[in-house]
Amino acid sequence: MTRTGTATVVKHTGSHYLLSELPQWELFPAVIRGRIRLKGSSSTNPVAVGDLVDYSIDTDSAEPMGNIEAIHPRRNYIIRRSANLSRESHIIASNLDRVFLIVTMAFPEVKQAFVDRFLVTCEAYRIPVVILINKTDLTREFMQEQTEDFENIYRGAGYEVMEVSARTGENIEALRDMCRDSVSLFSGVSGVGKSSLIKALDPTLEVRTGEISLSHLQGKHTTTFYEMHPLSSGGFIIDTPGIRGFGIVDIEKEELSTYFPEMLRVMDDCRYKPCTHTHEPGCAVKQAVDDGLISAERYNSYLGMLEDERKYR
Ligand code: GDP
Ligand code: ZN
Repeated sequence: MTRTGTATVVKHTGSHYLLSELPQWELFPAVIRGRIRLKGSSSTNPVAVGDLVDYSIDTDSAEPMGNIEAIHPRRNYIIRRSANLSRESHIIASNLDRVFLIVTMAFPEVKQAFVDRFLVTCEAYRIPVVILINKTDLTREFMQEQTEDFENIYRGAGYEVMEVSARTGENIEALRDMCRDSVSLFSGVSGVGKSSLIKALDPTLEVRTGEISLSHLQGKHTTTFYEMHPLSSGGFIIDTPGIRGFGIVDIEKEELSTYFPEMLRVMDDCRYKPCTHTHEPGCAVKQAVDDGLISAERYNSYLGMLEDERKYR
């Protein structure tokens, strides 16, 4: 008998996919027999972790293997360019409810330029971001002022920011609540405490960290397998081993400011359209910076990104 249904892709092993009808966690394997590339996409893996797919499966078979028939439209996704210089890209995860960007005021230093680039990328991908400031047990006494400055900048821009400590468990229960009934991606530079936080959320989880290099097998590619994990307190997480996984996105100079939520809110009032918010008279963004409504730090990041954009052209 053939059974059909709709399930979420939770893992890609290279040879097949593992599906589960979330929120249930009962995995079964599936393959793609026909070609079901999404129209207009040059992606090398048409099906990504997080995709909602229609499948069929022959339940009479001794070893039932599902067949992926169709991919539902994606709410959002993140991609990564292939390692070679081709224009191919690789969708690494889709249908994310949020990304947790983990930073710390302790070690390692997380540069603001990096944070702002990351946030712009998430805006471009239409993925909500929550910033977690980890290791507060180390910074509570000595870095309180820096922590508050950071929080003011990013809350002012419109982001949710939460202080956590994987060590002491501060706000871990709040983090569990956020994760419930949703799919969250964890990201941050190596050493900020990504795996420690995931372990604190659910000590039973075995989350592999670090990239798996297949270079000895394939010559030049480094492949990272992304995978979804169920939290025992509810919800699902995807770990990104290292920040390299998070793709670069082509952003036109004219649209860059639309990925700064605090600029997007006021740019309608700029006298000239389009406005680069650099030299134009009557610019509402520059006015907001002067009035202290937009942080000078964020505005400088914006100018830095515009400058880089010019250099690479
Ligand atoms: P990852 O590379 O982002 O996965 O970082 P890890 O989870 O491996 O943590 C890097 C280092 O920071 C380890 O030595 C952890 O013990 C330490 N660490 C992680 N979270 C905390 C925290 O909340 N407080 C303190 N004091 N150390 C932490
Ligand atoms: Zn302007």
